[in-house]
Amino acid sequence: MKKFNLYVLAAFASVTFWACGGSGNNSSESNSAATTEESATTSSNAALSQEIVLEGNDQMKFNATEFKVKAGEPVTLKLSHTGTMSKDVMGHNVVVLTPSADLSTFAADAIKAKATDYIPEGHESSIIAHTKLIGGGESDTITFTLSEAGTYEFLCSFPGHSSIMKGTITAE
Ligand code: ZN
Repeated sequence: MKKFNLYVLAAFASVTFWACGGSGNNSSESNSAATTEESATTSSNAALSQEIVLEGNDQMKFNATEFKVKAGEPVTLKLSHTGTMSKDVMGHNVVVLTPSADLSTFAADAIKAKATDYIPEGHESSIIAHTKLIGGGESDTITFTLSEAGTYEFLCSFPGHSSIMKGTITAE
């Protein structure tokens, strides 16, 4: 009986192991593959470059959300609006925030700042740089330096856009 139990246990354990091992392995493998792939994609997408090219479209999306730059060296960021809608309806900008800034607070105040193209007053210390607000077919280029290593969030501060139109620039 004991032997049988042990056998059952062993069989059960090995089945469980196999099952877990199988699916667990698979999923962890695909997870780690995904993670590896992601970080590979991230690092290939976000290859260290002092030139950031961002596109915003009529679907309220940026074409990329992760960038990597060298700290202490000038970064050129070009924002293009690949859509056709006007800046009153589908305006885009890029606001690069300091690491300590709070994106949601900033975005909430930006909604009320139509007069200044959604760059809210009183948040100057949170802003490292920003493009102007552009509409379809337009572009704007800015240059700034992220002096300290860290993660800097950016967003489009047009009302309602920052929940999707945001990303990070990692300075290292
Ligand atoms: Zn936008």
